[in-house]
Amino acid sequence: MAPVPPPQEGTVAVMVRVRPLAPSEAATQHPLLRVVDHHTLVFDPEESAGPSSCVLPARRTKNPGKHQKFVFDRVFAEQATQEEVFQHTTRGMVDTVLDGYNCSVFAYGATGAGKTYTMLGSEKSPGIIYLTMVELYKRLEARKEEKSYEVLVSFQEVYNEQIHDLLEPKGPLTIREDPEKGAVVQGLSFHQPSSAEQLLQMLLSGSRNRTQHPTDANASSSRSHAVLQVYVKQQDCAGGLSGAVQVAKMSLVDLAGSERASVANTRGERLREGANINRSLLALLSVIKALAEAKSKHSHIPYRDSKLTRLLKDSIGGN
Ligand code: ADP
Ligand code: MG
Repeated sequence: MAPVPPPQEGTVAVMVRVRPLAPSEAATQHPLLRVVDHHTLVFDPEESAGPSSCVLPARRTKNPGKHQKFVFDRVFAEQATQEEVFQHTTRGMVDTVLDGYNCSVFAYGATGAGKTYTMLGSEKSPGIIYLTMVELYKRLEARKEEKSYEVLVSFQEVYNEQIHDLLEPKGPLTIREDPEKGAVVQGLSFHQPSSAEQLLQMLLSGSRNRTQHPTDANASSSRSHAVLQVYVKQQDCAGGLSGAVQVAKMSLVDLAGSERASVANTRGERLREGANINRSLLALLSVIKALAEAKSKHSHIPYRDSKLTRLLKDSIGGN
């Protein structure tokens, strides 16, 4: 198979990380996935099939869902480290932001799949948000003679279509449409961490303010989206003259558990208010689908259908 090129500007890349089975799962479950190589995995593999058989086309069996092969921009096996995941996912995005483009990263999957572990991680094993910020600060510092910079962050939660500030706990906050700035969350706090380490401490304490502690896999935590936004402001300062200001934004989102939304989808149920269906998650899927299918820049994209898509409008479409 030809190698998949790294994600390009204006494209979407989809990566899958397979987490190790927890000791309690290992006792009762047979493996649901087999990673074949950096781009391929087999879902519900034939038990008798050896590793080499996975590269063959899916075999026809009585169960049509069995032994299905899927290809992604990148697949990480159980033993992949946070550093490896970072190297092949968000590392390249630092260039995109420094070039002045907005971009977004979403961790998507069922509750317990490893979204929070991958995005945030722990103090001992920090996730890709921290590693991305270390890289960002390193790059900004390296060229501060030519460009002065400022980094501002906000961290908010969308839970049951309500927005709460996670760094200075307050809410629900309202969104206002500003003709120049786009969607503005009124009263949201912005912070200027001086290093990636300080940011990690902010994130860990912000996470404790989430509606449910992220490691509690229960109904509430599965409905909460945590949205970290990093604004990078740069200004040319070569020769003592101040040049144009460039601002770009990176959004890193630890999404709500996908289980309810996907159940609702496969049954073709319509969005119901008050039900245990996550409106923001369904709206995000619709927006991504509409963007992928959009024929022109005038195509209708349903950003207004949820809080999350309103917040991210300027980071998932257009620039
Ligand atoms: P989610 O946020 O998707 O609900 P978590 O990130 O909280 O899931 O992960 C569920 C559990 O699995 C946690 O205890 C977490 O520490 C553990 N875990 C997830 N991914 C990994 C991994 N790659 N390696 C080791 N442990 C992991
Ligand atoms: Mg989580």
